[in-house]
Amino acid sequence: MSTLPTEAEYPPTWYAATGRQGEPRSALSGEQRCRVGIVGGGLAGLSVAIELARREVPVMLLEANRVAWGASGRNGGFVTPGFALDMDAIAAECGEETAARLYALSREGAERVRENIRQLAPDCLMGEGKYAVSRYPAAAEMQAHARELREVHGDRAEYLDTAALREAIRSTRYFDGVFKPDGFHIHPLNYSLALADEIESLGGRVYEGSRALRVFRAGDAWTVDTGVGRLTCEELVICTSGYDAGFYAPISRSVLPVATHVAVTEPLPDNLRGLLPAGVAIADTGMACDYYRLVDEGRLLWGGKITTVKTPPQQLDAVMKRAMTDVFPALEGVRTDYRWSGLMGYCRHRMPVIRRLEPGLWVSTAFGGHGLNTTAMGGILVADAITRGDERWRDLSRYDLAWHGGPVGRAAVQATYWWMQAVDRYREARAA
Ligand SMILES: Cc1cc2nc3c(=O)[nH]c(=O)nc-3n(C[C@H](O)[C@H](O)[C@H](O)COP(=O)(O)OP(=O)(O)OC[C@H]3O[C@@H](n4cnc5c(N)ncnc54)[C@H](O)[C@@H]3O)c2cc1C
Repeated sequence: MSTLPTEAEYPPTWYAATGRQGEPRSALSGEQRCRVGIVGGGLAGLSVAIELARREVPVMLLEANRVAWGASGRNGGFVTPGFALDMDAIAAECGEETAARLYALSREGAERVRENIRQLAPDCLMGEGKYAVSRYPAAAEMQAHARELREVHGDRAEYLDTAALREAIRSTRYFDGVFKPDGFHIHPLNYSLALADEIESLGGRVYEGSRALRVFRAGDAWTVDTGVGRLTCEELVICTSGYDAGFYAPISRSVLPVATHVAVTEPLPDNLRGLLPAGVAIADTGMACDYYRLVDEGRLLWGGKITTVKTPPQQLDAVMKRAMTDVFPALEGVRTDYRWSGLMGYCRHRMPVIRRLEPGLWVSTAFGGHGLNTTAMGGILVADAITRGDERWRDLSRYDLAWHGGPVGRAAVQATYWWMQAVDRYREARAA
């Protein structure tokens, strides 16, 4: 059983500093009943709740801390189709046809985010267009990637050679790139808060400070106990991800929390803002993956690193500054005003788990580092399944809650990260 305290405050991120969060919502108390209960108030849980509420299904959502207190309120904010696992691997595992359907679902998720923002919170949209860039020469790979996006999936994607790329992004670290005009980036905390408000305005309930401690089945119903309240529902959807911390054993045993870090600089002086195009998002293709964008006031939001060590490094500021100046030496001397870490939830197979585990019991989790579109996709799939027996979620049935291997599994994943990061460094050194 989880013994973690509940947090009434958001971590001190730039999103929280510029967010619209109000007073905490009330906690679950007494005995409550509802058609569908949801545990976890990140984008996975909120997306299930809003999709059901729009289909006129009564919902109640329990969040241990605050809405989007976990990864959903701290992420890079990049929204693109696709998954944490690359499409070639998905095609090899599921076959070309299923992979194509999965990609289309992932795009439906991205489009749903865009539409939600248009309807509920237009000012959450912070920019359009995303560059994927390589830190070593990879022309053939990047051309093939752009071609596959265009020809197989019907996306817009443009290959950029070294000269064109360095014209746009003023770093000698980059060699080849793909520009995806349909990618966009958002203020993820304000987006999540807008979803929560809309769920409530449609008659759903969102409880904060309501950590689920225990779940059990009684007859045809599921009951979740928070210690001060109980929620009994016909269907229960668990969306606790990397922050599960022992509440629901099948998730804690399978979803490995993986940390990544973000820093936000002071507003850049005018002479440095031209280092990258305003309004776009940029991510490199490396394992540790730097991802960054200019945000309001001309600050640079920079994310990166990936590690199974959950606590942030002591010198997080120095670590992030090193990553930034490695790409843009001119940033030496620029101060960072915000720094934070977040936990992503990864299964061994690197794909989301969206499925019915038992009659009336669902999970929508393990979105890894590609959760902004796929959590929305999970919401659509689960809501369609509950309301009209739709079975599109079965395209993901290969991806289950499989044990991550405990401490040995964690060590093996970390060793893989180190190995892949070493390979990246070798390729970069050769390029230099
Ligand atoms: C720093 C960072 C950068 C990222 N950048 C991007 C990006 O640019 N693009 C992208 O697509 N993805 C990105 N991701 C990934 C994306 O943020 C996640 O995949 C997504 O937010 C997962 O949503 P979730 O709801 O599954 O998990 P979370 O947002 O972590 O939500 C889980 C929630 O469950 C709650 N909870 C846990 N246990 C209980 C319990 N017992 N009872 C009640 N509630 C409980 C937690 O408090 C938490 O709020 C990033 C992630 C991080 C950390």
